[in-house]
Amino acid sequence: AYDVLIVGGGPAGAAAAVYAARKGIRTGMLAERLGGQTMDTMGIENFVSVLETDGPKFAAALEQHARLYEVDILNLQRAEKLIPATDNDGLVGVQLANGATLHSKTVILSTGARWREVNVSGEREYRNKGVAYCPHCDGPLFKGKRVAVIGGGNSGVEAAIDLAGIVGHVTLLEFGDALRADAVLVSKLKSLKNVDIHTQAQTTAITGADGKVNGLTYIDRASGESRRVELEGVFVQIGLVPNSEWLKGTLELSRHGEIVVDARGQTSLPGVFAAGDVTTVPFKQIIIATGDGAKAALGAFDHLIRSSAP
Ligand code: FAD
Repeated sequence: AYDVLIVGGGPAGAAAAVYAARKGIRTGMLAERLGGQTMDTMGIENFVSVLETDGPKFAAALEQHARLYEVDILNLQRAEKLIPATDNDGLVGVQLANGATLHSKTVILSTGARWREVNVSGEREYRNKGVAYCPHCDGPLFKGKRVAVIGGGNSGVEAAIDLAGIVGHVTLLEFGDALRADAVLVSKLKSLKNVDIHTQAQTTAITGADGKVNGLTYIDRASGESRRVELEGVFVQIGLVPNSEWLKGTLELSRHGEIVVDARGQTSLPGVFAAGDVTTVPFKQIIIATGDGAKAALGAFDHLIRSSAP
């Protein structure tokens, strides 16, 4: 059995692995895809102290750092079930899709999240070529340009306010009759001069030429007319979905499906910790996920030295 078993090999999992292994305890890390979301990222310019890198390079460095220590790395493995410890052996079980069950004194869940897609033509084709999901990450790439934000909930309206300070012009498109964000955000958004807001707007396509976005089309649901907006970027802000479906019913999740953690990364289940985008910790960023992974590993280590299990 492991002392610490980490489920997820993105920034949070890799940081947890490095911190746990440096304590000299038996550490395992399993992941469907090492690197996680960073494998889908083009430029990374906000991991402080690394001026500029790209996602696959960053992911390779995460793996290299974990492999520097004695971490048992199981790539391309999917966890399907978490089995809480019983009084008999005090070990938590993680059941894999291949049928095997791994056991560990502590488990760190760092399965991350995924952006919800609008599922219109052009979205996949122009991903990272004008279609973006993270204003904190990619906002500066559109300095002075025209962008749209799809989604009028809190994240969409926050993104539009944030982007309006960087880009030339923002068009916000909301499918429903009204923006769904907090009133204070909506009134802030409405006060900005370089923002147009369209409600009852159903995005139908993202278009481009020469490998770059050049516009989007939407249907005005009130009139049924199709409209086109010329622009250079589209930010999709219709939700971030935590990869926690497999945990439903075993530990406490927020109403958004995020794993509820305390300041040490402890979940509602003894010996089970969590870190990164899959948790209730706000602001989904690499630097936050790595710090969080380190914290959960130290939390798990603290749990181990306090528990009676040998
Ligand atoms: P993830 O990176 O999502 O990793 C999750 C890990 O868990 C993966 O290894 C996955 O395979 C594994 N996993 C999931 N479910 C299971 C399962 N059931 N069993 C086994 N393994 C599982 N942030 C920045 O700070 N700067 C940027 O410039 C930036 N750009 C971004 C661009 C894009 C296109 C995207 C999508 C995100 C970007 N982000 C950026 C956000 C950043 O990538 C995330 O905040 C960060 O990767 C979260 O790390 P994590 O380890 O919590 O989760």
